[in-house]
Amino acid sequence: MALASGTILTGLGVGLNSVRGEVFWVKPQATLPGPAKHAGDVAAEKATLRGAIHHVAAYLDEQSLGAGETSAEIFEALKMLLEDEGLFESAIAEIESGWNAATAFIVAVDSLDEAFAGDAALEERLADLKGLARRVAAHISGIHMGLDLPTTGSYVIVGDDFSPADTAWFTDAVVGLVTLRGGPTSHTAIICRSKSIPALVCCPQAVDLVDGTQVLVDPVGDRVVVGGDASMATKAISFVAKSLDPIIPVRANIGSLEDSIQAATTAANGVGLFRTELLYLSETTMPSVAKQAKSYTEILRAAPEGPIVVRTVDAGSDKPVPFLDLPHGDNPASDLRGFQISKAHRQFLIDQLESIEVARKETGREVWVMAPMIATASEAIEFAQLARSAGEYKVGIMVETPSIAMSIADLAGKLDFISVGTNDLSQYLFAADRMNAGQGALLNPWQPELVRLLKAIASESEKAGITSGVCGEAASDPAFAIVLAGLGFNSVSASSSQVGAVRSALSAVTLEQAHQVAQVALAATTADQCKSAVLDALASLA
Ligand code: PEP
Ligand code: MG
Repeated sequence: MALASGTILTGLGVGLNSVRGEVFWVKPQATLPGPAKHAGDVAAEKATLRGAIHHVAAYLDEQSLGAGETSAEIFEALKMLLEDEGLFESAIAEIESGWNAATAFIVAVDSLDEAFAGDAALEERLADLKGLARRVAAHISGIHMGLDLPTTGSYVIVGDDFSPADTAWFTDAVVGLVTLRGGPTSHTAIICRSKSIPALVCCPQAVDLVDGTQVLVDPVGDRVVVGGDASMATKAISFVAKSLDPIIPVRANIGSLEDSIQAATTAANGVGLFRTELLYLSETTMPSVAKQAKSYTEILRAAPEGPIVVRTVDAGSDKPVPFLDLPHGDNPASDLRGFQISKAHRQFLIDQLESIEVARKETGREVWVMAPMIATASEAIEFAQLARSAGEYKVGIMVETPSIAMSIADLAGKLDFISVGTNDLSQYLFAADRMNAGQGALLNPWQPELVRLLKAIASESEKAGITSGVCGEAASDPAFAIVLAGLGFNSVSASSSQVGAVRSALSAVTLEQAHQVAQVALAATTADQCKSAVLDALASLA
């Protein structure tokens, strides 16, 4: 039965604008022909398979080219799995045993089940690879694969969750998106934010929506209103700039040369997070210092004016770097990651720092370097010594674990800056795996426990004489960015698409007003209450 007009479904909103559209459930994809044997020409089947893999790899390249920092890295990693020679060889063995090219490839991918079992991150990758195997088979069988979305009209697409590869199929008719699962740091949310598509994620009640119903996606109100129209949309506070400059600098997050060029078209004050692992995801052997330095030089040269904060490689968990041998445990959230990996691959870290130094000298840019996933003060100090001996950098770390958040005082005189990664910090603070879509609500940045920990981090950093910033997704929310400034952070770094909105917000208040708003956030006891009390406080200032 269709939901009554006026019914409100709640979740977590992504974006600042509301949109009205017709519900469109994303249909299961076209059915492929069943398993079949070939007519006997083994060589022709091999050539067909090679060609089809090549076709799908080229499709991934296209997706990767137009994708932002996060999805590009996923497409790169998928392409490597797809083109793996071992996988091709095992498909050839199936062809030699009589299966046609399409069946052989699906069988070869399915046989990876056992090798990938028990590791959530690898299982997720295997699910993506199975989707690609279907695409290879579809190409061989001449079947179109895709989401088959309408191309005209205004639709709000609804689904369990969407992968970055799915977003490539979005047409201009997709004006909004609702997912039953997902969370604010999920790939869907990050991509919708960068494409400016209003979305509501983590909304299990959306299961009751039916095709054809008009709905209003109201991300600022964290809701979907059945039958709603624009007049019901929760208005994002319109910040009227009172000064030319924001009360604290707003920097941009980048992960590639393309992102760097894009960031330079915004008013970002430099780069607050350069995720370097993207540069290594498609390398099968460790690249030379010269090769790395060339990439860094191009990216530093293109970056927006201001300091550039380069994060050393954060491989592990959902970011596999092929030439680093990374052990996987049962829980991907506790795999070796970031700086811990450099204990096993120290030369790689040294080479990376040297490459960045070559690029720094070449471009004359101001470079800060930081290490990810630092757990203890001694790790931070070890990294600082290494980085200072490698180049003329300001040196810092990311604060992404509760353990280092409690050790800031021990870093006085050792570090120049810290940058808080709220995506991982929330994951470890709330024991809510970032890749488990069901735990999205705990990853909401408005959780008061996170706000209180952020306050402690900012205060301790100030006492220790260390500059502090925030570069997780939380800093891309304009109202939350005001809270961050009020808590005492010295800068924020946001996705390029949000830099303008975050700057406007931070130019509309004084530092004193931001402090008052932060006090309101600190007094809250639930995430909903925290957000609404802050929005009320900001509205009364406007
Ligand atoms: C974070 O954890 O908040 C962060 C910025 O790092 P990443 O999203 O790359 O893990
Ligand atoms: Mg992180």
